[in-house]
Amino acid sequence: MTASTPAPTTSSGSDPAAGSAVLFERAAAVIPGGVNSPVRAFRAVGGTPRFVASAQGPWLTDVDGRRYVDLLCSWGPMILGHAHPDVLAAVQAAVLDGFSYGTPTEREVLLAEEIVSRVEPVEQVRLVSSGTEATMSAIRLARGFTGRPVVVKFAGHYHGHVDALLASAGSGLATFALPDTPGVTGAAAADTLVIPYNDPEALEGVFREHGDRIACVITEAAAGNMGVVRPQPGFTALLRRLTREHGALLVSDEVMTGFRVSAAGWYGYEGLGLEHAPDLLTFGKVMGGGFPAAAFGGRADVMAHLAPAGPVYQAGTLSGNPIATAAGLATLRGTTPEVYAAVDANAATVRDAASAALSEAGVPHVVNTAGSMFSVFFTELDAVRNYDEARQQDLGAFRAFFHTMLDAGVHLPPSAFEAWFLSASHDEDAIGRILDALPGAARAAAQGRGSL
Ligand code: PLP
Repeated sequence: MTASTPAPTTSSGSDPAAGSAVLFERAAAVIPGGVNSPVRAFRAVGGTPRFVASAQGPWLTDVDGRRYVDLLCSWGPMILGHAHPDVLAAVQAAVLDGFSYGTPTEREVLLAEEIVSRVEPVEQVRLVSSGTEATMSAIRLARGFTGRPVVVKFAGHYHGHVDALLASAGSGLATFALPDTPGVTGAAAADTLVIPYNDPEALEGVFREHGDRIACVITEAAAGNMGVVRPQPGFTALLRRLTREHGALLVSDEVMTGFRVSAAGWYGYEGLGLEHAPDLLTFGKVMGGGFPAAAFGGRADVMAHLAPAGPVYQAGTLSGNPIATAAGLATLRGTTPEVYAAVDANAATVRDAASAALSEAGVPHVVNTAGSMFSVFFTELDAVRNYDEARQQDLGAFRAFFHTMLDAGVHLPPSAFEAWFLSASHDEDAIGRILDALPGAARAAAQGRGSL
């Protein structure tokens, strides 16, 4: 089917998602679970995922012709809004020159230069096609560079579906990780150590016990995949000090935060300076402008270990793809100070209104922020600093909140453990619809408490 072929629907008239439901059923016959990435399936909230036919600015239009204000932004990339004219023009121009060559191109150099000029610790960068590839390659490089096997990660941090990183076992003391999924062997996860986030003692303990075997610590620069949980004051500095003292690398995963929370990502936002800079950083999402482009980069002496300069193999048929690099470049060039100011302001308006509506309705909650990224935890706790705390949510309250927002034409991430994403294109109209929807959704959340 081409993009211009309307999706076949059999709208019954009464069900506003009838067309999506038909497609979901067809999808389930030929795609496992009906989706190509699990969270899209609405399993956490129930109901029918909306099949989107088009998107423009802050709006999604589904196959039933309903419009939603988009608070997903494709899980982060669409910081300028959908189908931004400059990105569209860049992509259209690039497409006319052919799609993929398997030879080097000028645009790869321009995109790499753009990243290097924005993020000071990045001296060299390698382009890949997904955030998963970026983190997978970064830990391979860290192991190859140090000659050590062990990777330390934090419970609740997601780095893509890399075998060695799909482990989040337990909390408390460091444990050699058990894989979270069938298909990842114990051996693949055996060199991964999982410790609780924002826990200085656990971090010191893991280095005391395993320091000379640790190749790297990988951390989400500010966590966004258990809901938003930023590093507590002093934690990033401690990470830097301990990794340096023990000869391990610090890998900061900026796939979500990169180019979103500031022009230089969380590194720029946190502002600790080069002395506390990670050795390697990973990027994705915004830097691809909605196309498959991602990257990892950092210290030149470490990056020099990558093939063909060095012995650590890494490659990709579509790496640095001409269309993806055109979209990424146009997006990064479009992220002006005014764009960041608009995203910050929009995020502040929505999170304050969400919190006010929930308070008014008597729904206990915590709003965590990391720059313009934020999430709402439906919890009675006073603070959420790690995965154990993040998990203590009233999922019934979230489910009711989510569906009432959806019915009112606002598409939130369909899980209580995700960041809400704004763009610079969220204008008065779009923000107005969100603000109008919040009080009713908050009342529904109050009713839904304890229902799951
Ligand atoms: N790292 C982080 C912090 C992410 O949020 C994600 C995706 O959500 C990834 C890595 C994986 O990126 P991708 O889905 O492009 O493979």
